[in-house]
Amino acid sequence: MKTRFISILISILALALLSVSISVAQTASSEPVTLALVNGRIWLGGDASSFAEAVAIRGDRILRVGPTSEIKKLADSNTQVIDLGGRLVTPGFNDAHIHFLGGSLGLSEVDLTDAKNPAEIIERVAAFAKRNPKASWITGRGWQYTSFPGGMPTKSYLDAIIKDRPIFLTAYDGHSGWVNSRALELAGITRETKFDGYGEIVRDVYGEPTGALKEGAQGLIRRLIPEATRQQKLDALRQGMKLAARLGITSIQNAGGSPDELSLYDELLKRGELTLRVSVAFSVGARTTPPTPQEIDRFVQLKNQYDLNPMLRAGAVKFVIDGVIESHTAAMIEPYSDLPPNHGAPMGELSMPSDQYRDLVARLDRAGFQIYTHAIGDRGVREALDAYEAAQAANKRKYTLHRVEHIETVSPADIPRFAKLGVMASMEPIHADPGTVEVWSKAVGPERLPYSFAWASLLRSGARLVFSSDWPATISLDPIRGLHSAVNRRTIDGQPSKGWIPQQRINLVEALRAYTQMGAVASYEEQIKGRIAPGMLADLIVLSQDLFKTDPARIFQTRVAMTVFDGKVIFRDNGL
Ligand SMILES: [Zn+2]
Repeated sequence: MKTRFISILISILALALLSVSISVAQTASSEPVTLALVNGRIWLGGDASSFAEAVAIRGDRILRVGPTSEIKKLADSNTQVIDLGGRLVTPGFNDAHIHFLGGSLGLSEVDLTDAKNPAEIIERVAAFAKRNPKASWITGRGWQYTSFPGGMPTKSYLDAIIKDRPIFLTAYDGHSGWVNSRALELAGITRETKFDGYGEIVRDVYGEPTGALKEGAQGLIRRLIPEATRQQKLDALRQGMKLAARLGITSIQNAGGSPDELSLYDELLKRGELTLRVSVAFSVGARTTPPTPQEIDRFVQLKNQYDLNPMLRAGAVKFVIDGVIESHTAAMIEPYSDLPPNHGAPMGELSMPSDQYRDLVARLDRAGFQIYTHAIGDRGVREALDAYEAAQAANKRKYTLHRVEHIETVSPADIPRFAKLGVMASMEPIHADPGTVEVWSKAVGPERLPYSFAWASLLRSGARLVFSSDWPATISLDPIRGLHSAVNRRTIDGQPSKGWIPQQRINLVEALRAYTQMGAVASYEEQIKGRIAPGMLADLIVLSQDLFKTDPARIFQTRVAMTVFDGKVIFRDNGL
């Protein structure tokens, strides 16, 4: 008995010694602080304006925040110590709705995003064609509806410069296409061509196709354009990631992708090249055939495979329930304000039958997915809320946080439903840039304008609000431009001076939060990222000027001086 007692005593002592040595190892240099940012102004994130002076990072996590003197004590000879010279640090930006592959591929096409008028567009297209004599198609993106009389371009502009090669130019929002006669010819689109899908081949008074294609009708052309190879896609993503790092974007939520696209990110992850955390939502809506049970099974399998992976996730699906305001394809409760009385679809229409959409939403909710729905018209928004409400009543899942994307118009009656149903409002502040809303405003009309891009009304109602770019369907991927728009509702030239629908402006902390912490909430990851606190993933950025002390009219001039992703400096602007 006695020997047994002694042996137990010895094991207890050994255990005690072991635990002492473990705790020593945890604080000793065997796990050093890898990066220390000192002498800065670190906005800790969340909904408060609380700051620290310095932050210590160990590996991919934030170890501690505090005064510079304290953080410096944690550093040793292996620590990279960066003096911030008083600069502002925020959590890395989370772009919660983006089409990253499309945007990245677009970097090697004609960029029309800031072209002001048809002459400038034509000049860029012609220059691109000259630079790329071997390109069988000339493709580009970014034209604005406001550049053309009547809000839509015609083939004649393009025919005047290029007749022998087909041209396909996507509008800045991706919802309309513009082609030359050669492209129409290759696609066999004539006065006789019928299109029954969601969208339209735009025609002149004689029935002749004008060269503009709305929504799904773009597919008649798009299917002819050779798809990029896997290698080209990977290279494009590498370019896209570089650009994102320069803009301080450390997380993205890909709003509409495929298992194939997911596999591209997976390859970059395995090669150690992924410098963004990616959450992929699979596209299930806005197409002629709903997903098959086999497809849904595949989505479930991928969702489980990437569950809890902080680099790559796949737990969501995305529907598109309507179109856009400018082309009158968004579904409205009341008629558009600028259509003739005999118009065939004066209120736009839903992109799929209501019962089919609701049934799919309920099925995917039951399968455990988070659901995104693109809804721009107030009728589309209501449809999404109705479908989510019905799914909740039927399936009774405890926490879902489904999302409505864009919400450019909303009925005041539906605003409180976001908080009540726990539905997230996912919006793009840059879409309300007053320089781009002329055609939009005429279609919406004065009565609906007060609830245009209604960030403030939604926030005040208790809705959770997350921000994004919708790149490449935007005039800018830069989150700083989004912050500028959210706080000012003015162009970078300060127009209009009082702000466009100024009652829907929000304050800086609200806007920053929608680009950081709420992005993490939107992908169920608020426990690991979106704020600067011990234990959180070390994704943070250093800015050229202190947003909290900057005149709001100058927010757009802010640049990213440094981006830290996963504990490593992945971008540094040496000029700043
Ligand atoms: Zn989108």
